[in-house]
Amino acid sequence: MPELPEVEIVRENLARWTVDRPLIAVAVEPGHERRVHAEEGLEALVGDWFRAWHRRGKYLLGELASGRTVLSHLGMTGKWVATPGERRFQRIGLTFGGSDGSPRDVALVDRRRLSLTWLLAADVASSHPRIASLGPEPWSADPASCLGPPAEGPLYAERFAGLRRPLQLALMDGSRVAGIGNITALEACFSAQVHPATPTQTLTQADWARIAAGVRQHIVRTLDDERGDEVMYVNDGAGETAFDVYGRAGEPCRRCAQLLRSAKLGGRPSTWCPACQPQPTSGSKRDA
Ligand SMILES: [Zn+2]
Repeated sequence: MPELPEVEIVRENLARWTVDRPLIAVAVEPGHERRVHAEEGLEALVGDWFRAWHRRGKYLLGELASGRTVLSHLGMTGKWVATPGERRFQRIGLTFGGSDGSPRDVALVDRRRLSLTWLLAADVASSHPRIASLGPEPWSADPASCLGPPAEGPLYAERFAGLRRPLQLALMDGSRVAGIGNITALEACFSAQVHPATPTQTLTQADWARIAAGVRQHIVRTLDDERGDEVMYVNDGAGETAFDVYGRAGEPCRRCAQLLRSAKLGGRPSTWCPACQPQPTSGSKRDA
């Protein structure tokens, strides 16, 4: 399922494919209307055009010339692709006029149909409940943007203060820090050498500095590995990305060669190295 790096790649692609091209046709698959929230229907986009695409957490925000915004969440299996013809599992089709006169088709494909799309009136995107509830960004393509600089260790420590929840699960709460999914959380725990089940309140400032750096390192590495016209998710059968721990239970740790262990943590798959990430022993403060 898409995490922050995959959403960022889709954002880059949408910017490349759609900005400054007039929308000449919009088609929503019958049956997908209930996943689209647009008062006059998405068809009201015809004649408008995108000025820019932004990302907030795992949400895509398409800024329209009319001042309106298309807000898109990809759910479990959604992705926007450029396509010369109708694709399997196509839910939304957007046709753009080309500057050379040739139309270009961009589609939302979504096998499990859990994606959500909104067409929002001017100036309400940042106050939309899905966006307003998000914590700071862990990484930003443009630190000078209105989102401000990405969260560093001290801001993580502040946002997660006093939480007893296991670190892996706490990191996945987008209202604390936005956009961190299961894979990013596990890779950051490994990078920071902290066990994913560590009670969050026992972490030190030094731990948070390593966790924040681990999150950013995973995002940058995944962006470099996966950039392309179509993002692939783990459940698409993509598995070539060199994760350090995710999906590697029973394989040797890349740092120390001990075999990685796995368990369910709050219903989520968890994987760690028993030597590099020792089990938390008590509720007391960890050694820095
Ligand atoms: Zn290890």
